[in-house]
Amino acid sequence: MANTRIDPPLTIWYCDNCKGQITEPHAGTVSWNDPTVVSDNVGVVQNDFPEKFYILHKGACDNMQRLPKSHDLNTMLGVNGLQWWAGYLWNGPTTAPMNFVPGVDLKPAMELLYRLQVPYYEQARRYFNTSYSQYLTDSTTTFTESTLRGIIEREGEQ
Ligand SMILES: [Zn+2]
Repeated sequence: MANTRIDPPLTIWYCDNCKGQITEPHAGTVSWNDPTVVSDNVGVVQNDFPEKFYILHKGACDNMQRLPKSHDLNTMLGVNGLQWWAGYLWNGPTTAPMNFVPGVDLKPAMELLYRLQVPYYEQARRYFNTSYSQYLTDSTTTFTESTLRGIIEREGEQ
């Protein structure tokens, strides 16, 4: 078993640009491209999703021209972050449901949710390309904390 330091959960993120650690939520940003919004031939607005959400060092690694949408990382965490996510995906029980284009790919949105909300996911995902991780993820449908910790302990740098 590798002697890997396990990050305290939900306190350290890995920048999608420089791969360095973001150890302070105020120093990070979540950025994405404008989702495509299209109207069908009767004017009904349909919403697409960004192809990827990025967690980046604010200032040093974000690029407002390439990824014009962003929120401060610290506002995307905890219960407030979860409520932001719920609002992004669902307008709430009293308004019309969001209307998405057919076949919209929710995977990027769900992965960001995992990165921001599921303990140990952010560190473990760095090793998802290993055969051990592939074996585990092929045989399980949910990432438990112990599964994710196991991936870090076994596959992390020594
Ligand atoms: Zn960075």
